Amino acid sequence: MTQDERLRSLLLAQQERTRIRVERLAADLDALTSARRGESDDDEHDPEGVTLSSQWSMLAGLLESARDEDRQTEEAMRRLDAGTYGVCVVCGRAIPLAQLEVRPFRDRCVACAERR
Ligand SMILES: [Zn+2]
Repeated sequence: MTQDERLRSLLLAQQERTRIRVERLAADLDALTSARRGESDDDEHDPEGVTLSSQWSMLAGLLESARDEDRQTEEAMRRLDAGTYGVCVVCGRAIPLAQLEVRPFRDRCVACAERR
């Protein structure tokens, strides 16, 4: 297996994991949305209601970041096709392979990512 093939399979595995996460979170969020809708509106101080809405915001945040990761993974696959994968988009230095293995959709080196 060449390094490109290896990276591509890492990206595909990443994409699959991310999509499963997106689906699960979307389903959880749906269930929670129906649960909230089912609550009576005349009891705004219901502690259960507060728990549900903070749970909802947390799930919505997780879903948003999972979708973002999915977009970044797709972007990374395009860069792999274009031959620009593994190069930091900010400083243009090569991103160490070990870092790509942890986060295959990474598009900037650690130094630039921390500066963001
Ligand atoms: Zn950089």
